[in-house]
Amino acid sequence: MCFGPLKRICHWGPLTALGIIKIIMIMTIHCGKQWWSYYDSIYAGGSYFVFIGLGSLTIYHFLSAIYEGPGYLSLGWKPNNIMDVKFLQYCKVCEGFKAPRSHHCRKCDRCVLKMDHHCPWINNCVGHYNHGHFTAFLTSAVGGCCLSTMILVSWLIIVLSRRNYRFPLPSIFTLILVVFSIGLSIGVILAVGMLLYFQLSAIIRNITGIEDWILEKARYRRFGTTDIFIHPYSKGWRFNVKQVLKWNCIPEGDGIVWPVRDGCDQYTLTVEQGCQKLEKRRRARRYRILFPVTGSWIPVSYGWRVICHPPCTDEPRIKLNVNDIVVVTRWRKYWLFGEKQSNDCDPKRRIRGWFPRPCALEVIENGDYLYTDTKDD
Ligand SMILES: [Zn+2]
Ligand SMILES: [Zn+2]
Repeated sequence: MCFGPLKRICHWGPLTALGIIKIIMIMTIHCGKQWWSYYDSIYAGGSYFVFIGLGSLTIYHFLSAIYEGPGYLSLGWKPNNIMDVKFLQYCKVCEGFKAPRSHHCRKCDRCVLKMDHHCPWINNCVGHYNHGHFTAFLTSAVGGCCLSTMILVSWLIIVLSRRNYRFPLPSIFTLILVVFSIGLSIGVILAVGMLLYFQLSAIIRNITGIEDWILEKARYRRFGTTDIFIHPYSKGWRFNVKQVLKWNCIPEGDGIVWPVRDGCDQYTLTVEQGCQKLEKRRRARRYRILFPVTGSWIPVSYGWRVICHPPCTDEPRIKLNVNDIVVVTRWRKYWLFGEKQSNDCDPKRRIRGWFPRPCALEVIENGDYLYTDTKDD
C-alpha cells in the first residue's frame, strides 16, 4: 500500500513508464560512453550529453505532469453570476456546476479543468495546469529515444563488426539488453511520437480531445444547413500555442474564464453540449435484460461474435440480472452502452457501462418488446 505522494506513482502506468525510461537511460549511458571513446569526436560527446539532458527533462516533465496535476474545479463550484447556471451542466458527484471546458473524470472522481483525457501512464488527467508539462514530456521522450536508438544501433554495429579489438567485448546479457532497449526506443518513437503529433495538432487548434468529439457532433447536427458551428476558443495558431506551450510550462489563465472568438461567448460550447445531451436523452431507449450478464470483458456465453467485436474503450462492462432495465444511449452491433435503472439516487453508485447486446431486448412504449436482430443494426 502506498500513501501520500507515492499513491499517484504506485500504479502500473507510471511504474511501467519509469521502468522503460530507466532501462533506456542506463543502457544508453553505459554503451554511449564506450561509443564516445571509440569515435572520440565532439559530435559523439555532444550527442551523449544531449541524450542525458533529454533523459533528465523526460523524468522532470513526467513527474511534473503527475504531481502538478490538471487542476480540479473546487467542489460545489458556481459561476460568479448565478444567472449563468442555466448555460452550464451540473455535476452530481462534485455537487457543483461544470465550468466551461471542465469535465468530470470518473477515474480522478473530480471535475477537471480543461480536461483533455485521463492518461493511465501518468495515472492522472491531462488538463489545464499540466498540459505544458505533458507535451514537454512527450517531446523530450521522443527526442531522447531518437538519440538513444542512434547511439545503441551504432554501438551494436561496432560490436558485431568487431572493427576495433580494443572495444570491450560485451556479455551476452548486455547484448540482449541493448537489443531490447533499441526495441523499446523505437516503440516509444512510434507510439509516443503519434501521441505527440495529436497533442500538437490539438494545441495548435486549441481544442481538447473531448471538444473534438463535441465539435464533430455539432457539425453533424448542422449537416445540410447553413448554420456553421465555430469553435469558440481557437484564436489563430500563434495565440493558441502561446496559451499552453511556454518555457516555464505555466499556462495562461485560471482554467475557468477563457478568451473567445468574436461572435462567441463563454458559454457557446457548453450550450451546444447541453443541446447534444438533450438529444442523446431523447434518443435513449429502455432495454430489459433477458439473460444474466457477468460484467466480464470476454463474455464467453454470448458467442465469438460478441467477443470478437468489443467496444474499443476502457469504459466499464456492467453486471446485470434478469429483468433489470437499462437505459441505452449508445449502440454497437454486438454491444450496448447504458445506465441501469435503479431507485438509488447516489450518483456515485450509478451503474453505467457496456453489456452484450444479445442478452437484452428493447422495451417499446406499451411495455412490449421490440425484437431487433443484431444484423439489422
Ligand atoms: Zn464532477
Ligand atoms: Zn482523470
